[in-house]
Amino acid sequence: MATMIEIFDTTLRDGEQSPGASMDEHEKIQLALQLERLGVDIIEAGFPIASKQEFEAVRKVAETIKTSRVAALARAVPGDIERAASALKSAAKPVLHTFIATSDIHLEHKLRMTRPQVLEAADNAVRLAKSLVPRVEFSAEDATRSDWEYLVEVTKVAIAAGADVINLPDTVGFTTPTEIRDMFRYVISHVPDSGKVVFSSHNHNDLGLAVSNALAALEGGARQIECTINGIGERAGNTSLEEVVMAMRTRNDIYTFDCGIQSREIVPSSTLLSKITGLAIPYNKPIVGRNAFAHESGIHQHGMIANAKTYEIMTPESVGRNRSDLVLGKHSGRAGLAKRSAELGYQMDEQQLNKLYDKFIDLADKKKEVYDDDLRMLIVSQNKEDFEIFHLKEVDTFGHNPAKAIIKLVKGDETLTDSATGDGPVHAACVAIDRIAEVSGQLETFEIRATTPGKEALGEAYVTVNFSGKHMKGKGASTSIIEAAVLAYLDAVNKYLAYQESTDDGIAAPVM
Ligand SMILES: [Zn+2]
Repeated sequence: MATMIEIFDTTLRDGEQSPGASMDEHEKIQLALQLERLGVDIIEAGFPIASKQEFEAVRKVAETIKTSRVAALARAVPGDIERAASALKSAAKPVLHTFIATSDIHLEHKLRMTRPQVLEAADNAVRLAKSLVPRVEFSAEDATRSDWEYLVEVTKVAIAAGADVINLPDTVGFTTPTEIRDMFRYVISHVPDSGKVVFSSHNHNDLGLAVSNALAALEGGARQIECTINGIGERAGNTSLEEVVMAMRTRNDIYTFDCGIQSREIVPSSTLLSKITGLAIPYNKPIVGRNAFAHESGIHQHGMIANAKTYEIMTPESVGRNRSDLVLGKHSGRAGLAKRSAELGYQMDEQQLNKLYDKFIDLADKKKEVYDDDLRMLIVSQNKEDFEIFHLKEVDTFGHNPAKAIIKLVKGDETLTDSATGDGPVHAACVAIDRIAEVSGQLETFEIRATTPGKEALGEAYVTVNFSGKHMKGKGASTSIIEAAVLAYLDAVNKYLAYQESTDDGIAAPVM
């Protein structure tokens, strides 16, 4: 019998700290629902003290998710812990995750605290957390660069104070498989009450060892893995969920562990994250990359035709690829659309479905075949609309250089029209939007991707816009490239306006 381990997903917290991966509340909820379908045991939703928006996002995720546990992060200080507990108030299964650094280098240069002071802070933090939330995880930040004897001391204190989970993170991606396995063995064997808690491993990928280190931590006695979809996260990222899970499953002769992940939801989760953040998945990324199951060489292809096992160690279907990508068309009807959307994990009420149906018919008119990815993009962009200040009603462009654009935007019950000229149609349209919204943005990055095959493919545009020093990301999709670009720019404008409305600047996210 395989030993069950827990999968703690931190895509919404650590993953969200990747440059360019920031998500708003609605995006976080969509992703959280998908993570729940994927079967992760714990969803770390965020760091509530960071800002009002972050607090709200964690609160909403906690309220929405029923099956998975929902965790919120807090430094080992009362203000953070109280704020995190308050964000988790309506969670069905809350986890308060508090942390403090334990390596001498962090104690000396960051915390300016002595070892006894850190022990006391950990004790107080876990006690307070435990008095507010039934399940508490304690992390010894930078554990892999900490003195092992001191780690044993900290672990004893945290367990005595009521911690349920002890996480020993490789915060800077510095450890190796042998070292981390031995570290877990050492701490577990030197803490008398270690059997009362779950040991957890959180790894960063600076040396490309995060997945290997996570698997080695299991050999050392860890029973919870912290990871993210597509391995996103600070710097080089975190342990990638899909890799660590499929390594365990594919080599269960070596790794006698299993977990509750529904592997067929891996590719849908990866695709959704990439659509929400705009972060492309490298073609050669294991499990989820476009080429991960592509066989180019003639010899391989020949072998594959004779028997897939000659060159394939796992099937694409097992991770949710090439699932008969059901194609919808104009005649699929409202019921067909509702059924497919539900299968893809989106819950909608009557009104949302009606709106989606109109957009779907529009798209089906233009491109005949509507693929799952098209549908995801429609739903992702529609969900955003409910919270936008300005909606695009119409864009018309004329000429090329100089080009002229006429833009109609809707704000509440008002329709606002303006026109502008610029170097090319997209530039002209952005200038017209700036005039209406009374902002001044500089387009800094601009990327176009085709979502699905076909001549009338849905084009996705991803932009970064600089509003006097504040960078906002935006995305848009349309069968017209210009319209996709304009929608993406407008998305960034809406985000900037929402940001301006919120007065607090928040505090910097922790590295842990
Ligand atoms: Zn981390």
